[in-house]
Amino acid sequence: MDLSLFVSPRPDVDADTAGRIATDLYGISGQATELGGERDRNFRIAAPEGSFALKICNAADNAEAPTAQLLAMEHALRRDPTLPIPAVRRTIDGALTGSFSRAGATHQVQLVAFIDGVPVPREAPTPELRRSVGRVIARLNRALRGFRHPGLDRDFLWDVTLLPTLRDKLEHVEPDRRELIARQLDGFEIEVLPRLGHLPHQTIHGDVHGANLVVDPREPDRIVGLVDFGDISYGPRVLDLAIAAAYQLIGSDPKAALAQVASAYHLVDALDDEELELVPQLAAARLVQSYLISAWRATVDHSNLDYILADQADVWEALAGITPHPSGALYAAIRRACGFARAPATPTPDAVAAREATLGPALSLSYDEPVRLVAGEGVWLEDTDGNRLLDAYNNVPHVGHGHPQVVGAIAAQLRRLTTNTRYLVDEVTEYARRLAASMPKPLSVVMFVNSGSEANDLAYQISRVVSGGRGVVITEHAYHGMTAATATLSPEELGKERLADWVTYVRGADTLGRPEAGDLVSGELTAAFAELDARGHSPAMIIFDGMFSSDGIFPVPAGYLRAAYATARAAGALCVADEVQSGFGRIGPAFWGFATDGVVPDIVTLGKPMGNGHPMGAVVTTPAIAAEFAANWHFFSTFAGSPVAAAAGMAVLDVLETEALPERAVEVGSLLRSRISALGYGRVKAVRGAGLFTGVELEGATVAGFVVQELRRRGILIGRTGPGLNVLKIRPPMVFAPWHVDLLVEQLDSALALYEDLSNRS
Ligand code: PMP
Repeated sequence: MDLSLFVSPRPDVDADTAGRIATDLYGISGQATELGGERDRNFRIAAPEGSFALKICNAADNAEAPTAQLLAMEHALRRDPTLPIPAVRRTIDGALTGSFSRAGATHQVQLVAFIDGVPVPREAPTPELRRSVGRVIARLNRALRGFRHPGLDRDFLWDVTLLPTLRDKLEHVEPDRRELIARQLDGFEIEVLPRLGHLPHQTIHGDVHGANLVVDPREPDRIVGLVDFGDISYGPRVLDLAIAAAYQLIGSDPKAALAQVASAYHLVDALDDEELELVPQLAAARLVQSYLISAWRATVDHSNLDYILADQADVWEALAGITPHPSGALYAAIRRACGFARAPATPTPDAVAAREATLGPALSLSYDEPVRLVAGEGVWLEDTDGNRLLDAYNNVPHVGHGHPQVVGAIAAQLRRLTTNTRYLVDEVTEYARRLAASMPKPLSVVMFVNSGSEANDLAYQISRVVSGGRGVVITEHAYHGMTAATATLSPEELGKERLADWVTYVRGADTLGRPEAGDLVSGELTAAFAELDARGHSPAMIIFDGMFSSDGIFPVPAGYLRAAYATARAAGALCVADEVQSGFGRIGPAFWGFATDGVVPDIVTLGKPMGNGHPMGAVVTTPAIAAEFAANWHFFSTFAGSPVAAAAGMAVLDVLETEALPERAVEVGSLLRSRISALGYGRVKAVRGAGLFTGVELEGATVAGFVVQELRRRGILIGRTGPGLNVLKIRPPMVFAPWHVDLLVEQLDSALALYEDLSNRS
């Protein structure tokens, strides 16, 4: 590393000269008073129009660094205008930096507003102050995100990620302190450094030291200024938090101090669990770095000793305080404070009874041994006892539980703006356009709703208006929703005897499981329309699930939709594709289930996976149908199509594309099905599906129920479906990988073997 910046003397400038520089370059006349500085000279200029901080930069610094620092400050203030950082003052000529030459050296000059107040006191900071620190750095990090400049790319002594280069400074450390510091260096190199590359990186402040944090003495728990951008660099985003936390450790309980700064940060700028895990070790690394730098510099620069050694005693105390705590224990405290893992919930007498009493008894609960969850990440769920469960069932977290890109997009948009579709918001239109582009023409109008049920309900309203009829044909064991209209399109829940008289069905599993299904459906539909007609209803729509999920999971049989759509259209019905389960690339590589049969529906309905957990749904239709509906009916839904929903939906599409998830679904899903088939159990009657949507038909409901419960006990979540409840439903988040397949198949094998064993014994 080039250390010239740290060994070359500070600019030789006194207060009078500084005052003159301020006048010449910035047109500001005021009283100059010197402030401290490691490599530069800093002055406060008290002028009639306000106070300013003037920095005469070290001539040995990277030529672009001073410009980069000021541009970063301007960028951050544009993004967050009330951020308590100094405003940049440009020179009389409008330049970012000025310059000053002396003794053959040219120094760049910066001028920024001086924020009145005092540095945060060194004595044990209060929890309120720590939280204020956490919030301010989170805001700054958010505001700096996206800023890049070549002036930030310098090898810099205070860059924590370069800590190992300071190992040769150990010789300057007092012998009785050397061992502890050496151990910390080893730990950093082995455990921390290899993981840093994977963390989110961005432009960071790099020196959130107490001296750079300003408080108002009348209100000492609130940060009113974060100053000195001289160490700004590009690095892991979590570093600012770790650096700030390091300096908050002095005289404090490390667990409380770290948890308070981190949790306040996390509220404003959500961190990944992996970032949080490294906070204790990164904070310790900063302290080690500070100690080594001051020990070394004290031997080479005797002119600035007070400044160089000002921190050393405190830094040692903080390091000695944090070292005895295992980093895992500190991380656990941070995690809990950030809400990643709550402490085991206050034991309620009976969580199941409490749920039923408060949410009502209408909702059934999955599994004999109910799952009590606190967190989710990727394909994993975590329960209150800290157990990890492999989620092979849920399709709402489509691109994985808590996908950072989706969470980030939702949080950012919610902070910026949310409103309804009565206003123009470009992002909403853009998302609708992008979504429609994934469908065949002329499907191009997207009407947003909040759930799959609402989408199907709206599809029915549209179909009634456009067809003039009322009748609906579904499949025998379908599920289409919970509104008054869609509940009666859901024999899976309601029972087929209780459907309204304007609803009838074609056969489900009996037909869908046969190779000639495509030849049969026309006849079945014709009979269904005749039955509706006999009840006095002309047809409004047919609606089929793109994977016939609740009928037992059947990929669309070849020719099935083509024949059905032709028959339905001839009868005057609209053709609705319910893609709530099968859509968004799940069956891969096709994005939609209907597409596998080469048809174009009149209406497509969407829901569950669309926002990765943000509640949203949509009806996609043609301009002609949308126009006819609009001319005769009314439609608006307050939350539907909000900018937040659009941000969530757009992020899901982005992730699907960048992570090539529909293509991966094909590979991983085929692997899963071939592995299950290869297990060779006689009780497995069929293994079918497409992409990451798999049905395993078992001999009967008993064995299927046993397997589902047994897998849950073994930490794997799947479900079952079909009219006989004998089809295992395996429908994991799309980030399911081959090694998850291994885990699942291994346990499925054991569960089936156990069932055989128990049956043989009884
Ligand atoms: N259609 C299908 C095919 C579904 O599976 C579901 C939900 N399971 C719905 C519609 C209704 O969606 P929601 O529960 O989000 O309203």
